[in-house]
Amino acid sequence: NNEEEVIVDGDLAESTPTKVTYNIVFVTSEAAPYSKTGGLGDVCGSLPIALAARGHRVMVVTPRYLSGGPSDKKFASAVDLDCRIKVSCSGGVQDVAFFHEYRAGVDWVFVDHPSFHRPGNPYGDAYGAFGDNQFRFTLLCHAACEAPLVLPLGGFTYGEKCLFLANDWHAGLVPVLLAAKYRPYGVYKDARSIVVIHNLAHQGVEPASTYSNFGLPPEWYGALGWVFPTWARTHALDTGEAVNILKGAIVTADRILTVSQGYSWEITTPEGGNGLDELLTSRKTVVNGITNGIDINEWNPSLDEHIPSHYSLDDLTGKIECKIALQRELGLPVRPDVPLIGFIGRLDYQKGIDIILSGAQDLLQDDVQFVMLGSGEKQYEDWMRATEATFKDKYRGWVGFNVPISHRITAGCDILLMPSRFEPCGLNQLYAMRYGTIPVVHGTGGLGDTVKTFNPFADEGKGEGTGWAFKPLTRESMLDALWIAIETYRKHKPSWAGLMKRGMERDYSWDNAAVKYEEVFKWAFIDPP
Ligand code: ADP
Repeated sequence: NNEEEVIVDGDLAESTPTKVTYNIVFVTSEAAPYSKTGGLGDVCGSLPIALAARGHRVMVVTPRYLSGGPSDKKFASAVDLDCRIKVSCSGGVQDVAFFHEYRAGVDWVFVDHPSFHRPGNPYGDAYGAFGDNQFRFTLLCHAACEAPLVLPLGGFTYGEKCLFLANDWHAGLVPVLLAAKYRPYGVYKDARSIVVIHNLAHQGVEPASTYSNFGLPPEWYGALGWVFPTWARTHALDTGEAVNILKGAIVTADRILTVSQGYSWEITTPEGGNGLDELLTSRKTVVNGITNGIDINEWNPSLDEHIPSHYSLDDLTGKIECKIALQRELGLPVRPDVPLIGFIGRLDYQKGIDIILSGAQDLLQDDVQFVMLGSGEKQYEDWMRATEATFKDKYRGWVGFNVPISHRITAGCDILLMPSRFEPCGLNQLYAMRYGTIPVVHGTGGLGDTVKTFNPFADEGKGEGTGWAFKPLTRESMLDALWIAIETYRKHKPSWAGLMKRGMERDYSWDNAAVKYEEVFKWAFIDPP
């Protein structure tokens, strides 16, 4: 199909707009429900399905992680395609296999290699990040470039004229391989690649000496070669020379996408560019941002299998029942009228946990309840446990990664707090609004794009806005925003109902975003740089 027009016979041809479809290959280190540690998994689990529903042929290439635990069963229905390839990298030749499942209109292709079979999450275990991640994701990229050529999915390969969506640094070698390994030999001449940046904080940086591991021609070193800024060097003799996979992707991809408009601008500034702002600025004519959608079936308060009572805008009684059930589950006093504030996310500097810590003592003096779900830095996990002991009737800190609990917190809370230092898009605020839970966020990146601060006077006194987006990111402005939200919850019930209604009514489906992705695909094919 690629760019071929759908031919419609007779009269219809004049009235029906032609639809251009593409063979799309997502390359990603995570795809829910098979694997997920954050938003990347959510996006790569649902955007492919939305694009397939719009008529595109879509493949997702991701590792077949086997950790020896219960999550392995997620891969159980994928079958061995009995197709082996050999990948030359890291000074050796690796045998790689492919598993496959056709589900929801998408070809889910799992790259199989012993390095993906080990306990832990996709990137590490209790001892930290795996030392061979560069190797593991180099393998993923080589295998993903071969997949459209060699896998007869549904009887036919995807072929050379496809569109690669390389997500984050783990997939960043894909555009480099297209340019350096394939195109010089006439392969993939008509393919296009888009690098999708979900988080610029992670770039796949390793010592320059590891360049030879990539299986790239030596003359392509310049695409990945990178020099650390002086302040980031570890000692006086450190020349700062490194290889940076995401840089290679930014240099070689046909288009660069981020997951919100706000973030697409922030990454071109010195504050948000993480050392790549000048490079991104030099390519700004091909940079764009598209706000993520959400999986509206998984995150639907009237169907959600993880919550105890269902509800919708027409009947919100189920939300109170969810709140009571959550208080019971957490062992907090059951009080439907007390403001219940939630936080869900990685316990990481990015998420502004330090700002939460600095304001929590003050917040918990008030008559509120506060629950946090997350895992990450040990100091924050320890703080959560200690605070739970101090504020038994008010605070719960759930250390761990638990999807069902995340749904129950989203449904049961009144307010969701997200003081992220930076946020490429952020999904929890979108889930919260869909569940009638009011987000209080730092107005940065995707949070600023998606949460509009409540204004009671706008729209002829009916009010507008779906939450509070505070700035700057300080303890004081976070607490001010929280206190205004809490007071509104306690004293201005109609205003609160309006906030819930406007949030719940919004269209979060991937359809809107998928249309915008299609525009970028078209742009990439029609007008290559
Ligand atoms: P990021 O990708 O930076 O982690 P996002 O807001 O884009 O942040 O996406 C985070 C996703 O991971 C959401 O689906 C969120 O619910 C989920 N998540 C984060 N932490 C946890 C946790 N501890 N338990 C369950 N789900 C979590």
